[in-house]
Amino acid sequence: MTQRPIYLDGHATTPVDPRVMEAMIPFFTQQFGNAASSSHIYGWESEAAVKQAREILAAAINASPEEIVFTSGATEANNLAIKGVAEAYLDRGRHIVTVQTEHNAVLDPCAYLATLGFEVTVLPVQPNGLVNLDEFEAALREDTVLVSVMAANNEIGVLQPLADIGQRCRERGILFHSDAAQAIGKVPLDVQAMAVDLMSLTAHKVYGPKGMGALYVRRRNPRVTLAPQQHGGGHERGMRSGTLYTPQIVGFAKAVELGLAEMAAETPRLKGLRDYLWARLQVCDGLLLNGHPSQRLPGNLNLSVAGVDGQALILGLRSLVAFSSGSACSSASRKPSHVLKALGRSDDLAYATLRFGLGRFTTAAEIEQVADGVIATITALRSTTQGTPISAPLTEGIGIRPLGWGQDALDAPGVDPGGPFGIHFDRFTNMAIATLVRTQPVEVPPL
Ligand SMILES: *Cc1c(COP(=O)(O)O)cnc(C)c1O
Repeated sequence: MTQRPIYLDGHATTPVDPRVMEAMIPFFTQQFGNAASSSHIYGWESEAAVKQAREILAAAINASPEEIVFTSGATEANNLAIKGVAEAYLDRGRHIVTVQTEHNAVLDPCAYLATLGFEVTVLPVQPNGLVNLDEFEAALREDTVLVSVMAANNEIGVLQPLADIGQRCRERGILFHSDAAQAIGKVPLDVQAMAVDLMSLTAHKVYGPKGMGALYVRRRNPRVTLAPQQHGGGHERGMRSGTLYTPQIVGFAKAVELGLAEMAAETPRLKGLRDYLWARLQVCDGLLLNGHPSQRLPGNLNLSVAGVDGQALILGLRSLVAFSSGSACSSASRKPSHVLKALGRSDDLAYATLRFGLGRFTTAAEIEQVADGVIATITALRSTTQGTPISAPLTEGIGIRPLGWGQDALDAPGVDPGGPFGIHFDRFTNMAIATLVRTQPVEVPPL
């Protein structure tokens, strides 16, 4: 078998941790009972396992076990939260507030509700990806029933100020939902301190099985009512019918338990690897970090490469490293990522974007290899140009296609905005493009 690329796509999914797998296995073949069967030991065993998993998951977010509703993942949890609240609180109002950088599993249910007559405010974000709290507060109305703001972004890793948002919702009696699919087991979550009323979780981003998730639904202060979106046997207090998938539930809880137990050691390790990769890449000019530099997931690095063709960059790297350009969904539809557009990135920059998600099994040696490969690829793409590079100041009206250069490029660390700029020709379009010239040496701290 040829060597497989290094896996740095941890925001798309993660492998099941062997310890999670081990915890799940008995529940496929031996302890296979239906957790709802109350008349024999097969049922009791499964019920006990589900009860324990519920306790672990509830404790992980400072909730109580009865507030955990198992679902098939975060997509279903988001749909249940958003459509379930909208339908149950019709008499209170029909206005929903969310944010441009949310996952489609939040944006699309909101858009669907808009077709039914709900009004949805989709707030922009600041250039660093964070919600502006004043703008947020100004968007809240008398008839606002629900706010949905994610904990951690799946593309740029940015951590939204949940406690500040929750407090503003609580003061006004507005329900607050947060999609925490990327956050659970990676950063601390506390539904009390953050005043969150509904929280979506998933197992497969935290080394648990795919097809498993949960929705936290607050039971007191306030007690949240949901209109079920799936009707049937009345499981999960009637909010989500369907036989519980015991092996997945056990694996989910084990995965979250491990994530919490290892967070204190794993966070600095991942940050160290991520910051080292970013520092090493600085030998290439014109790299733009997407999202807030520190208020982000420890394993996330998302950067745009100015002055190269996005498609060529991705093709050049994909045998070395498994990564994503924008989100998985937007790479399939080949539209520039809506998250990067919300940050104000041009289409060209959005296409030339590398999203790296480092994880539990990422090693320092792999990061060195990826750094070497990215630097070599960018250098090669920039040198394969037609025409002779010329040196000239970058001024308006010089006939340059700027390929996304903007003030943010000039603000990049180590770039002197008054310094010389190189110009070369883009080999794909045969148009002149500009390259910033670094004026300070790049310092890479040892790993
Ligand atoms: C992955 C992800 C989802 C979808 O979760 P599934 O469990 O795959 O349905 C939703 N929101 C965010 C932020 C995600 O990263």
